[in-house]
Amino acid sequence: MNQRMNQFVVILGAGESGVGAAILAKRMGFTCLVSDAGKLQPPHLEELKQFDIEWEEGHHSEERILTADIVIKSPGIPEKNSLVKKIREKGIELVSEIEWAWRFIGDSKVIAITGSNGKTTTTALTYHICKHAGLDCALVGNIGYSFARQVALDPKPWYVAEVSSFQLDDIKEFRPHVAVLTNITEDHLDRYDYQFINYIRSKFRITMNQGPSDYFIYCEDDEVTMQHINEFQLLSNPLPISMRKELLQGAFIKDQEMNIATKDEKFQMSIYDFALKGKHNQYNTMAAGLAASVIGLRKDKIREAIQSFEALEHRMETVATVRGVEFVNDSKATNVNSTWYALESMNKPVILILGGVDKGNDYSLLLDLVKEKVKAIVCMGVDNRKIQEAFQNHVPVMVNTGSAAEAVHSAFQLSNKGDVVLLSPACASFDLFKNYEDRGKQFKEAVLAL
Ligand code: ADP
Repeated sequence: MNQRMNQFVVILGAGESGVGAAILAKRMGFTCLVSDAGKLQPPHLEELKQFDIEWEEGHHSEERILTADIVIKSPGIPEKNSLVKKIREKGIELVSEIEWAWRFIGDSKVIAITGSNGKTTTTALTYHICKHAGLDCALVGNIGYSFARQVALDPKPWYVAEVSSFQLDDIKEFRPHVAVLTNITEDHLDRYDYQFINYIRSKFRITMNQGPSDYFIYCEDDEVTMQHINEFQLLSNPLPISMRKELLQGAFIKDQEMNIATKDEKFQMSIYDFALKGKHNQYNTMAAGLAASVIGLRKDKIREAIQSFEALEHRMETVATVRGVEFVNDSKATNVNSTWYALESMNKPVILILGGVDKGNDYSLLLDLVKEKVKAIVCMGVDNRKIQEAFQNHVPVMVNTGSAAEAVHSAFQLSNKGDVVLLSPACASFDLFKNYEDRGKQFKEAVLAL
């Protein structure tokens, strides 16, 4: 302990992961400082006081920070931040919160899930299966507590973790026993020098410390993953998932049956029994079922849990059916790829609510599905021009709206019994809403008020 007291740990950024990392540092006996250039949120401030952790807000006291033995950086702080550059120049060790937490888990094991889309769903489903099968585990990462907080306050033999590319950028030894890479599509390129390959490399870091006793689950149908997989030296056991290929080991769907095969287990399950609907969720369900199977959980428990899982809020969430019109909240679809999967899973005529802050979207990817399934588009945003241009010649009706309530009313007016109104905006929400949760919430309130 004394040795640790002489080590100075600085935590940059006081969000959930920063505060978690600080509580862990304090509990482990280090001297620590939390430094945030912005203003601390009241609950975080309260906690820092409660745990007697030193903090500063509104600035970084650079000189002192540069005396740190180790710096833990919030995933929100980019590499080009001037203080981060100085920390690197001085050769101070800089790690992410998941790396920090990893160093204190002892013999416990981690199932870690990353990917451009489907992380939260796959993580939540994997956790649900593990819990249902009686595994003593915690859900950590973007959903639930930060990994570090969980390790500090309620350590478990197993952790099911959702990890972002930013968290993976600053790992050194983090080694999940099971790593899942759902898929890779362009995202967050502003943080990767606008080089897609940098983002791809970041995603593959999830496997970089794995060894022969570990497993790597990835999607054989994902072009980008398959184009690059051979560039990385995989030492763990590869376990692919696919809907196109039969696999000796891994998970695949054939004739509406999911087949899971590991070296110790083999079983099948009808996709009609999946609680989560849509093709994208079939991938997520295969990944979660396979992860649970490879760590030895019982197949009957896995089946039951896949059947009983309840959809997460704001992700293909059925809100209500009003006069025969179904309303689905997929507010979490903040990019074109997510909206593609949402549309793909629809089997009724769709009134699609699209729009928000465009992140350089290429809407042409949606054209085929829009032509096939969409009878009207309701644009919901401050600036809808790009969406109008992309679709005006391809859908019979397009209207402009500037709030969730307006969008719901217009969509309802345009609908007939048997239609579905789908909020799957393909854009960020910050023009009209605080975040995607706020957007989904306002949508649901407007639906329930109809
Ligand atoms: P993430 O945590 O990676 O953002 P989520 O599980 O929250 O992913 O899902 C976000 C949205 O992405 C969903 O609403 C859905 O439209 C889409 N999506 C989910 N899983 C997949 C997948 N495996 N492939 C493509 N899109 C997906």
